[in-house]
Amino acid sequence: MGGIYIHIPFCRQACRYCDFFFRVSLGHMDGFVDQLVQEILLRGKEHPGDPMQTLYLGGGTPSLLSPGQLERILGAIHRSFTFRRDAEITMECNPDDLDPLFLDRLANQGFNRLSIGVQSFHERDLQLMRRSHSSEQAERSVKNAATAGFENITMDLIYGIPGQSSFEWEENLARAISLPIAHLSAYHLTFENGTVFDHWRKKGRLLPVPEEESLHQYELLREHLLAAGFEHYEISNFARGGKMSEHNMIYWNGMPYLGMGPSAHSFDGTARSWNISSLKGYVDGMKAGKGISQAEILTTQERYHDYLITSLRTRWGADPGHIQTQFGDEFRDHFDRKARLFLEEGSMWITGQRVAIQPNRWLITDHILRELFVDQHGHSSHGVP
Ligand code: SF4
Repeated sequence: MGGIYIHIPFCRQACRYCDFFFRVSLGHMDGFVDQLVQEILLRGKEHPGDPMQTLYLGGGTPSLLSPGQLERILGAIHRSFTFRRDAEITMECNPDDLDPLFLDRLANQGFNRLSIGVQSFHERDLQLMRRSHSSEQAERSVKNAATAGFENITMDLIYGIPGQSSFEWEENLARAISLPIAHLSAYHLTFENGTVFDHWRKKGRLLPVPEEESLHQYELLREHLLAAGFEHYEISNFARGGKMSEHNMIYWNGMPYLGMGPSAHSFDGTARSWNISSLKGYVDGMKAGKGISQAEILTTQERYHDYLITSLRTRWGADPGHIQTQFGDEFRDHFDRKARLFLEEGSMWITGQRVAIQPNRWLITDHILRELFVDQHGHSSHGVP
């Protein structure tokens, strides 16, 4: 088993672009923590084994947990699982929660990595997205975290925000780089079904940025981060000083992980399972001792596709030898044949034993993936064996 993910499904307010599973009814947090602790204890009994590499508290907004709630969760985790001595222990935080007292407590509780959701340093963007913090709070939170001794700080930024110019995006990048962060995740804004932004887009009130603008901002992102000594190691992720996200590497390398809390996903190497995306369903289900999760066994084809989707958006790319041992000769032959075309045209390259997509093409990998995929019968996605 590689890592543990704990989903804390509460937020102070709803950001207008977000489709993660969360509730703003903070009065239910205590009751939720009771059942989360039960799930952790149960899952711990089902998964005795090797020490874990990572623990990641995400959400939602885990930094909303009270000291007592957090202690109860961590207590259950440490009673149920063991961790490597150098395990990466991350908490996702919103800037408005990161005062010096809170940060000291996190450091004492064993957290060694903070993921801070900044998204933008421009007040207009923050208000448009309905973030709960100001730009000044965002900057101060990173400085406070560094002062509290955190050396592994990652920040989230969003680009492709309607109304944000490329110049403003560059200002965000410059400001992020000037802060003591070891890692940056930058995501292009998406209009997810059911979000306020999606509703506004359908009404014509908010227009997605044109594709050439998105590509330009992606290029600016790469340019500024590479110049500042960051390594671009995955489509959305940059690290300096070798501080790549170990937890995400578990997902990208197809290693097993255990997710707990509503909507959390798990993978045991062959089967994928996910908890119910309902706070009431989760709490009631746990109380009644009923099932709160569903599972599916992945076909070889699905595992091959998952492997390509994740590995080909990293700088390491896909390993043809891994494809052969994990998925069989037919998949390896298909991959070799299709990848050769992209190697010849220059959008893929060979790195050691592996084949990777050029980083400047990561934002537009869909057509390459479509070619590399196979249909149910092990043939190409266009039906050509
Ligand atoms: S704080 Fe994070 S999880 Fe909560 S609504 Fe905003 S983006 Fe979504």
